[in-house]
Amino acid sequence: MARERVVYRNWLVELGYDPQREGGSVIGNEPEPGAVEVRSQLVKRRVREALKTLSSDEREIVERIHYMGQTYREISEKSGREIHRLESLHSRAIRRLRKELRPLVKQLYGIDPPLPKCVVCRSPMRMEIDRIIDSRDPRRSWRAVLVQIREECGLKIRSPQMLIGHKRYH
Ligand SMILES: [Zn+2]
Repeated sequence: MARERVVYRNWLVELGYDPQREGGSVIGNEPEPGAVEVRSQLVKRRVREALKTLSSDEREIVERIHYMGQTYREISEKSGREIHRLESLHSRAIRRLRKELRPLVKQLYGIDPPLPKCVVCRSPMRMEIDRIIDSRDPRRSWRAVLVQIREECGLKIRSPQMLIGHKRYH
């Protein structure tokens, strides 16, 4: 999984965000004419397409972290949003990108990246469960979140550790 993470993040960086460009967004930039090799262009195009599938919040945090090199603290100070919310948002964005880019990984490397062996990731209710996890009030216990997931999504998760691991790593 660590390797996967490296590949996707390198792809993000390969897109080459140009901070000099006023209001520049990686989304709008067309590949430079006569540019490098086909494979690299393919990666850029697919990553750009994958970025478009994110919500504007998700896209913004990816741009800030991966293209502008900002830290959670800086983003938090500017936006007034709590760091733990930014972390959730960022990890959700990366998960979505990874999912969107699975076919590209298959095409380029001939491998199916394994899905995490995680009840949340495998659940058809995953989006809903992620929403519940992301909107968790930090003062509330993880147990309470387990109850909410069971009641709203019909999924029985045995331990809070699973949720915490899912939130942090998937
Ligand atoms: Zn998971």
